[in-house]
Amino acid sequence: MDLILASQSATRRRILNAARMDAQFISPQIDEENIMRSLSAEQAPPRDIADTLAEHKALKISRKNPNSWVIGCDQILVFEGEISGKPASPEALKASLSRLSGQTHRLITANVIYKDSKPLWRHISISHMSMRCMSPAEIDAYVETHWQDVKQSAGGYHFEKTPDLFTVVRGNWFDIMGLSIGPIIGFLNQNHPSIPFQTPKLAAILGHPIAQSKSPLMHGHWLKKNQISGDYIAIDIPPSRFESTVRMLFDVGFSGFNVTIPHKEKALALADDISPEAQRIGAANTLIKMDNGKIRGDNTDGYGFMTNLISQSNTWQPAAGPSLVLGAGGAARAILVALLDAGVPKIYLCNRTRDRAEDLASDISDCIEVIDWQDKEEILPKVFTVVNTTSLGMTGKPALEFDLTNINPRALVADLIYAPLETQLLKDARARGCDVVGGIGMLLHQGMPGFEAWFGMRPAVDEELEALVLT
Ligand code: NAP
Repeated sequence: MDLILASQSATRRRILNAARMDAQFISPQIDEENIMRSLSAEQAPPRDIADTLAEHKALKISRKNPNSWVIGCDQILVFEGEISGKPASPEALKASLSRLSGQTHRLITANVIYKDSKPLWRHISISHMSMRCMSPAEIDAYVETHWQDVKQSAGGYHFEKTPDLFTVVRGNWFDIMGLSIGPIIGFLNQNHPSIPFQTPKLAAILGHPIAQSKSPLMHGHWLKKNQISGDYIAIDIPPSRFESTVRMLFDVGFSGFNVTIPHKEKALALADDISPEAQRIGAANTLIKMDNGKIRGDNTDGYGFMTNLISQSNTWQPAAGPSLVLGAGGAARAILVALLDAGVPKIYLCNRTRDRAEDLASDISDCIEVIDWQDKEEILPKVFTVVNTTSLGMTGKPALEFDLTNINPRALVADLIYAPLETQLLKDARARGCDVVGGIGMLLHQGMPGFEAWFGMRPAVDEELEALVLT
């Protein structure tokens, strides 16, 4: 199908890419202000203005490309009957946000499809957006941080970057993004059924901060490789607004989320249905909207660790004897539960801060014995598995001082750290004949259950993905 989007907006382009629709992107460059001015003078309702603008854009491109299907789009923000344009300056953005703060405005999205300079289809959606109350200081801080990004956006916000600006939204994600992809696909499939498109499914990773996350790369790779109609993005949500924002994002169409620091306990608290793993670990890293509308909370860190371990070592026997786990932070919980569930009979837990290890052990199982940080070498002859869950040995962090002289050469040594790929601990263990397992595979495998639940197919962890995530 020869398809053209009469827009160069990166967001709309992303939506078409997510829907696996090949298209050209051409800016129509019509005189929007003039058209708006004359329509406003005629007192045309805002939805007619949006529709006419979308039509002008599509027609202009269609005239030059008669055989193509051309999608024209326009979006207008309406508050108290007035159309709000793109802010012309930081001061105008502050004034606009002060007006919208604590109020509900409408976002009107108009899409039309033209072919041979003739209109074939048109669609209007209206989303109702209730912005939370922002103090003048918050508005100043928002403008300071976001001005360069949002100056071309109606209303002066990017919903996908700061959805926590809103408390309640009645609408659909794609409509709010300016392209009503579901209805567009419905029309194209009816009229051009040889290539049935599918409305993209949506998932995201939620954290604070989140810019460093590798998850969008990983899920983006799986979506592309398997030609799945879907999108996966990273969203930064401050802790105080986590629950309300997650509920709102589910309402606008997300199938689910990965959740990372510092939201994993809050994610567990908001789930209606909790997997036994998440319950025992006390945290959820995966949220899934189920068919009955309820939210399921799961924790796949232990699954990722164990699946990776088994894929890397075909000799590991959990029941062979005790394990030693170093560290008692967030990651340690999942590892302890996964080792016990796999059949490890006893775990020695060793952490710099002994109290933290005691708390963790008493939360999880009587089979965990806490030992002092300085005794970790002494216990080595007794253990068959060693797992480092501390951040020691990671690039930029202090080294893990750990003498493996007494280690049983049949023991397996795993490190959760993946930067560097092979830590000094793993190098030392390899030199003593032990099986070793690095952290990158855990990162990749923990994403699989969520991907399968949201996008409907089980992806593969392969070297191509590993190389991509490590770049
Ligand atoms: P965390 O909650 O901050 O815990 C950090 C742990 O490291 C604590 O046990 C802490 O001991 C210990 N530690 C930090 N500095 C230390 C020092 N100077 N001496 C001795 N112990 C020290 O972090 P986390 O979320 O558990 O993550 C831990 C590591 O696992 C990180 O490197 C992370 O990248 C990695 N990780 C990897 C994956 C994966 O998919 N591969 C998943 C999760 C985490 P105290 O209690 O005494 O502070």
